[in-house]
Amino acid sequence: MSGEKKYLTTASGAPVGDNQNSITAGHRGPTLIQDVHLLEKLAHFNRERVPERVVHAKGAGAHGYFEVTNDVSKYTKADFLSEVGKKTPMFIRFSTVAGELGSADTVRDPRGFAVKFYTDEGNYDLVGNNTPVFFIRDAIKFPDFIHTQKRNPQTHLKDKNAVWDFWSLSPESLHQITILHSDRGIPATYRHMNGYGSHTFKWVNKDGESFYIKYHFKTDQGVKNLDVEVADKLAGENPDYHTEDLFNAIADSDYPSWTLKVQIMPEADALNYRYDPFDVTKVWPHEDYPLVEVGRMVLDRNPENYFAEVEQAAFSPGHFVPGIEASPDKMLQGRLFAYSDAHRYRIGANHESLPINRAKSPVNNYQRDGFMSHDGNGGSTINYEPNSYDNAPKETPENKTSPYEVSGFADSVPYDNEDHYSQPRALFRDVMNDDERERLVQNFADHMSAVTKEGVIERQLENFHKVDPELAERVAAKLNVDVPSHLKK
Ligand code: NDP
Repeated sequence: MSGEKKYLTTASGAPVGDNQNSITAGHRGPTLIQDVHLLEKLAHFNRERVPERVVHAKGAGAHGYFEVTNDVSKYTKADFLSEVGKKTPMFIRFSTVAGELGSADTVRDPRGFAVKFYTDEGNYDLVGNNTPVFFIRDAIKFPDFIHTQKRNPQTHLKDKNAVWDFWSLSPESLHQITILHSDRGIPATYRHMNGYGSHTFKWVNKDGESFYIKYHFKTDQGVKNLDVEVADKLAGENPDYHTEDLFNAIADSDYPSWTLKVQIMPEADALNYRYDPFDVTKVWPHEDYPLVEVGRMVLDRNPENYFAEVEQAAFSPGHFVPGIEASPDKMLQGRLFAYSDAHRYRIGANHESLPINRAKSPVNNYQRDGFMSHDGNGGSTINYEPNSYDNAPKETPENKTSPYEVSGFADSVPYDNEDHYSQPRALFRDVMNDDERERLVQNFADHMSAVTKEGVIERQLENFHKVDPELAERVAAKLNVDVPSHLKK
C-alpha cells in the first residue's frame, strides 16, 4: 500500500475497502456481524464523550505565551518569573460555570479563567475566575452550593428557590452575588474581562522569605459587558457567541492580551490584617496592597482539535512550581484535591501525560500503570524509591515546601469574622455609579422574582439591608414587597 495518497484504515491500521456500505447477507441484508469495521465505528462513536465537567462544562481555549515585564524575583524564586523578558508557553480555558456542555455562553454566571504555564520546572496552573472573590469560603459547602446552581432533582429545571434559599442562608455569598448581578455578570466576550486567582497564594523567594499574593489579570482590551437584552437574544441566536468570538479574533490575528498584576502581602502582615487574608469572599483593598505588574499574557494560537486540547485540558490549583505554594485558604485547600480528582474520573489516572497536559520539562516519578498508560510507562526503569540507583530520580531538598507555623485545636470551626457586608457595601456605594446601581437592583429583582419558597426573600432582604439599607429597599420595591418590618426606620 505505498503511494502519496492517505488511505483509510481501521483503528488497528488495516486498510478499509468500503466505508459507505455495510456488509450484508444478500442485497437487502440483514447486516453481518463480521463487518468489524462497522462494529468498530459504532462502538467508538458510542464512546466519544468523556463525562462532562460537573462545573465549568462549557469552555473555549487558546494557546499563547506569558512574558515577564517587571522584576519580581525578590518575592519568588519561580523560574518562569525570574527575569524580565522571559517567555513561557501557556494554554488558557475560559468557561461558564453552571451550564452544561451545550449551554449558552451569554448567561449571568461567573467565568472560569484557567491558565496553564508550561514552565521549565513543570506546569503551573492558575485556576481562577473573572471575579476576585467566591460565593463560599469552605470547600465543605461546595457540593451543596453547586447543587443549587444545577437542576432540580424532580423537575430537571434550574431552581431559583434553591439558589436563593442557599444564598440567603450563606451571607458570605453577598460579595460574589453583588459582582455577579452587576454589569460584569455577563461579559461582552472572554477577551473583555479580567481574570483573578481569587484565592491567596504564597510566593517564596531564594532566601526562604514568604509573601502572600493575589493575582489580577487585567484585560488589555478593556472591560466590556453585555446588556441583559442583548445577552438574552444572543443566548437564543448564537449560544456559542463567546466561543466564536475568541476563535475568530485569534484566527484574524487580533491577539487578546492581559497584564498580570499581583498584590503582595509580607507574611507577617497576615497575622493582623484587617481582613482574614485567606478568606476568599474578601479582596484586599488596593489602597492596602497596590497592584504590582508582573507580565503580559498573549493568546496567539487556536487549538487544532477541540477535544484533544480544550476538553482534555486538566487544570489543578494543586499544580505548583518551586517558589509558588498554597495558602491555608479553606476553599483552596479543598480545590487542591478536587480538581485532579475530577480529571482522574473524567479522563483517567494518566491524564497528565496527554499532550495538552504534559509538562514540557522532564517528568520523572515512580507512578506506573493505570488505564491508557501510553507513553512507555517508565519502560524498564525501576518503580520504587528509595533505591540505590544513581541514575534513578531523586528528591531535591531545596524544593521542599516552605514551613508554616500552625497552632490551635483540630476542630470544625467557622471563620472568626462575620463581616460579609463591608466589601459589597464598598462596591455598591463607592465603586458603582448611579446607572450601575440601578442595573444591579434590577438584576437582583429579576432573578429573585421567581422565588416562591416562604421566608427566602425576607431573609435575603435582611442580608441586603446589612450591606446597605438602600439596596434592600430598592430591591424590595422592585419585587413589590415590603422590607421586613423590624428593618424599617
Ligand atoms: P478600588 O476603587 O481601588 O477598586 C475597585 C475595583 O473594582 C477595581 O479593581 C475595578 O476593576 C473593580 N470593579 C469595578 N466595577 C466592578 C464590578 N461591577 N464588579 C467587580 N469589580 C468591579 O477599590 P478597593 O480596592 O478599595 O475595593 C472596593 C471594592 O471593589 C471591593 O470591596 C470589591 O467589591 C471591589 N473590587 C476590589 C478588588 C480588589 O482587589 N481590591 C478587585 C475587584 C473588585 P477595574 O479597575 O479593572 O475596572
